[in-house]
Amino acid sequence: MENSPALVDRFGRTVDYIRLSVTDRCDFRCVYCMAEDMTFVPRAEVLTLEELYRVGAAFAALGVKKIRLTGGEPLVRHNVMHLVEQLGAIESLRELVITTNGSQLDRYAEPLRAAGVRRINISLDSLDPDKFRRITRTGDLKQVLTGIDAARAAGFERIKINAVIMKGRNEEEILDLVDFALERGLDISFIEEMPLGLIDDHDRALTFCSSDEVREVISTRYQLTATTEQTGGPSRYWAVTGSDNRVGFISPHSHNFCHLCNRVRVTVEGRLLLCLGNEHSMDLRALLRDPAVDDAALQQAIITAMDLKPEKHHFDLDAETDIVRFMNTTGG
Ligand code: SAM
Ligand code: SF4
Repeated sequence: MENSPALVDRFGRTVDYIRLSVTDRCDFRCVYCMAEDMTFVPRAEVLTLEELYRVGAAFAALGVKKIRLTGGEPLVRHNVMHLVEQLGAIESLRELVITTNGSQLDRYAEPLRAAGVRRINISLDSLDPDKFRRITRTGDLKQVLTGIDAARAAGFERIKINAVIMKGRNEEEILDLVDFALERGLDISFIEEMPLGLIDDHDRALTFCSSDEVREVISTRYQLTATTEQTGGPSRYWAVTGSDNRVGFISPHSHNFCHLCNRVRVTVEGRLLLCLGNEHSMDLRALLRDPAVDDAALQQAIITAMDLKPEKHHFDLDAETDIVRFMNTTGG
């Protein structure tokens, strides 16, 4: 039976997509995402797998059709497959998807596919082993490329590469990354860096590379045509002449997409975050751990929380007050 959409905010936007952060831990320390020395959330404050499932099921009962598992690196969470299998069995969900750095895909690509994950996003910012190491601080490019091959072999319906381009770091790899993706039948999206978390590696205003700049570079080799295609996320897609794959751009700075926002996030500590760029939130963990709160009360709280969703984000790369929360806690 189709659920009717119950999650509508004050601006008339229907929320049918949640991003669940299953861990803030990660085997990488990407320079735009984390500081070199990170303090992670104490384990007792992290939602258990059972709590994560209960949250996913509550949202699904409220008409949510798409759940993205993210983090941190979702595939480093112990027993994460148990959660994936449980969520994959929720009938009303149209899509269960995952964003990963690819390092564990050699092991997990097949079980993920078997659990009903049809699409997967894999982050890849460089094809040069040294540069890859410098950007991720700890990552091994070979391991990720093996993971991408495993994902291709596992038969996902779509695989998308996500790349963050930074001036002075990897901007000269834009075309190589597009070639890499298209040669393998993969989509690719370029993400503008967002000011989340106080990082010490670089000045974001100086490395910022806009989607339009990236697209101009790609246009020197490929003919791109704008499409109206929507996958329920923030990407704007361009068709590539001669290819079935597409190039996407996630441009929180240069092309604000707030008016189309259909999603909310649940952070690793169970904070229902109504907007990536604001702090409006509700503590779901307190509800999940209160024996007096049953599923109906949990769902009612989530419906009420929709009133907190702000109209838009106000990212400003030059402002001194970046959002202190790191992307890994929030769920990218
Ligand atoms: N660990 C997984 C991964 O790297 O794909 C999932 C979590 S990660 C936070 C999700 C996505 O957010 C990645 O594609 C990453 O490149 C992107 N990301 C992280 N920090 C970012 C930032 N400050 N601005 C823009 N994108 C960011
Ligand atoms: Fe880890 Fe993903 Fe953040 Fe990189 S972007 S540090 S892989 S969570």
